[in-house]
Amino acid sequence: MLVDAKGSILSLLLHDLTEYVVARGHPAYRGKQIADWLYKRRTASYEEMTDLPQTLRAQLAAEFHFPKANVVRVLGSKDTTQKFLFRLRDGNLIESVLIPASPALYGETSDRRTICVSSQVGCAYGCNFCASGLEGWTRNLDAGEIVQQLTGVEQVSGEKIDNVVFMGMGEPLANLENLKRALGIINGSWGLEIGARHITVSTSGLAPQIRELADDPTQFRLALSLHGATDEVRSQIMPVNRKYPLNVLLDACDYYVAKKRRMMFEYILIAGINDTDEQARALAKIAKRLYAKINLIPYNTVESLNWSRPSRSTQERFHSILREHGIISTLRREKGHDIAAACGQLRLQTKRAEQEAQVAPVG
Ligand code: SAH
Ligand code: SF4
Repeated sequence: MLVDAKGSILSLLLHDLTEYVVARGHPAYRGKQIADWLYKRRTASYEEMTDLPQTLRAQLAAEFHFPKANVVRVLGSKDTTQKFLFRLRDGNLIESVLIPASPALYGETSDRRTICVSSQVGCAYGCNFCASGLEGWTRNLDAGEIVQQLTGVEQVSGEKIDNVVFMGMGEPLANLENLKRALGIINGSWGLEIGARHITVSTSGLAPQIRELADDPTQFRLALSLHGATDEVRSQIMPVNRKYPLNVLLDACDYYVAKKRRMMFEYILIAGINDTDEQARALAKIAKRLYAKINLIPYNTVESLNWSRPSRSTQERFHSILREHGIISTLRREKGHDIAAACGQLRLQTKRAEQEAQVAPVG
């Protein structure tokens, strides 16, 4: 049972809600009723939960805050990709990206409306090509703040989301307890009811947590941000590789694949860094070992960083080497989606502009 009495109501699993109502002398079915109001009817306040007794509504209001999605900026258009900037209760900013149905975006889930969600404010892992890690880690999101990105974006956009990728700001496996709780709510038939095959968690490669997930009943897809197929190249761009070098990481992946299911690899192509034939061959070898599919993503330029994507012909050459080795891979082409992979940038821009203007955060 979640004991944080001042937490968000959107952080509770069905069994927490049921335990909560029973502990306060209400029948167990009241828990399911609350979940229905939150996730099926999408009510905006406790007062609207009209079939609950007044005493229970008052108890809920006293013990859990009812989060309101505070969307402070929306960028992009309905036909391409839209970015949503949220202001959290403590003033911190996070962003989510809504990606419309599109061919060949995330493999098998391409005909779906995808949301890319953040799992932390900032990121401690400091990959040196990424906007999210530029100013370090501030804090973990609670489960409600993760779930609220889905409900908030649906509310503002009017779209029904049916695919979720944890590829926004933060390292989801560094916030594992809240992540698992959020996944329970997103996936639960009593909750947002998005199928496990349509939820992808992306990690920079935290080996111990990958092992832990292999033993966990939670269902979803796992994507590994590889970005380098040798320690030399990977450590150059991802400091996490010094902590969990490839032999340690790939052993954990072997364990995951044996116990659970296959994973997908993400590989961003950065000019002159990880785009050589040698890297392509080494990558093919790793993919073969783990039966993994590869998503090649041309690097999106980040303001204030000097990295760039390789030419189209280099991208294609890299792709064809993987194909020659019998590896299933996709090379992302659509320009309209550039905005998505560079998650973290809108927050950074807004934060810096606010700091310059010395605007006090709104609570
Ligand atoms: N921390 C997790 C999830 C968030 S990042 C992870 O690293 O996997 C989601 C994906 O976006 C990662 O594969 C990351 O490497 C990639 N990414 C970050 N910055 C990017 C950029 N500028 N262009 C393209 N992909 C980027
Ligand atoms: Fe963090 Fe992922 Fe960005 Fe690396 S790529 S800094 S792990 S969000």
